[in-house]
Amino acid sequence: MLTRSTLGMMHLMQPLQLLICVLATLAILTLTACTTPRGITSHPPVTWAIALHGGAGTLDRTAPLEELAAYRVSLQAALDVGRERASKGDSALDVAEAVVRVLENDPRFNAGRGAAFNEKGEHELDASIMDGATLQCGAVAGVRTVKNPVSLARLVMTQTKHVLLMGDGAEQFADAMAVERVPNSYFSTERRRKMLDEVLRERAAVGPRSDAAPRNPRTTYGTVGCVVRDTHGNLAAATSTGGLTGKRFGRVGDAPIIGAGNYADGYAAISCTGTGEEFIRHSVARTVAARIAFGGQSLEQAAHTLVFNTLKKDDGGLIAINAAGNIVMLYNSEGMYRAAADSTGWQTVAIFEDDTK
Ligand code: ASP
Repeated sequence: MLTRSTLGMMHLMQPLQLLICVLATLAILTLTACTTPRGITSHPPVTWAIALHGGAGTLDRTAPLEELAAYRVSLQAALDVGRERASKGDSALDVAEAVVRVLENDPRFNAGRGAAFNEKGEHELDASIMDGATLQCGAVAGVRTVKNPVSLARLVMTQTKHVLLMGDGAEQFADAMAVERVPNSYFSTERRRKMLDEVLRERAAVGPRSDAAPRNPRTTYGTVGCVVRDTHGNLAAATSTGGLTGKRFGRVGDAPIIGAGNYADGYAAISCTGTGEEFIRHSVARTVAARIAFGGQSLEQAAHTLVFNTLKKDDGGLIAINAAGNIVMLYNSEGMYRAAADSTGWQTVAIFEDDTK
């Protein structure tokens, strides 16, 4: 804003100085309007916009630079797929599913290949997808042989009258659908195996209530997700995860619970990552949209309230987008693998808050 004192000073200036002063003020205002320190971003009107995350756990500031660089390459690759699909006018649902499939196929992230191990040393995968235009949604929980759980979730949405299928029922549904199947060992990676060993060691040291051991966010969680505003103005969200490392056999997190880890309506699309139980308890994804719809809050205010007032430190974070194509990517943990882009040409790939590495 041009304040009264600024205007007063202008009165004393020569025309050229005045012009320079006005231009400089406008440049500063434009910059500060675009980015705030907490990752809140707003832009001029956009025709499409996309944000994705690769989880808020398993982050290590002391990790070798090459490892962090490799994560950035993976995030950029997923973002490129989303940008390409969104810019040619694909639906928000198609874009969200396609991006999550890329992240599921990437062994660096805790979803699909690279998924966390449960306490029995196996993988049980959860995923969901939601169409903000129709409130249609689908989800699967505890699937063991489906290469891309997000696509099975979409089939639950389109090919059944249900919202959530779990365990053997979801596997049987997959038998009837044309989805790629893999042995459970396909999801295993050495890195996740080491994380399970670490979690089990910590538990053994704590005692009989094996699941009460302190959680180390670096070893326990991670998830992938994508939110999209397409060229028609529609929103969609998709989320997929291997869940928490060392989770109980049969444990289901927030990712396949519509309204907890994933949600989309006409106001916003949200995908969460972190300690699933907390996100379920507070219906985090739906509450962000509800605060906008019923409380008149902005996307930024609503997301900020959930991440910094409702959730506790180190619970995780979320990405969210609204119908105007504004994006927020907030977390209360060490960092969050994340990337975003929109039709203005703006894009970002980041891991930590200051993102110096
Ligand atoms: N929210 C997921 C779960 O609890 C894990 C994560 O996002 O890291 O299953």
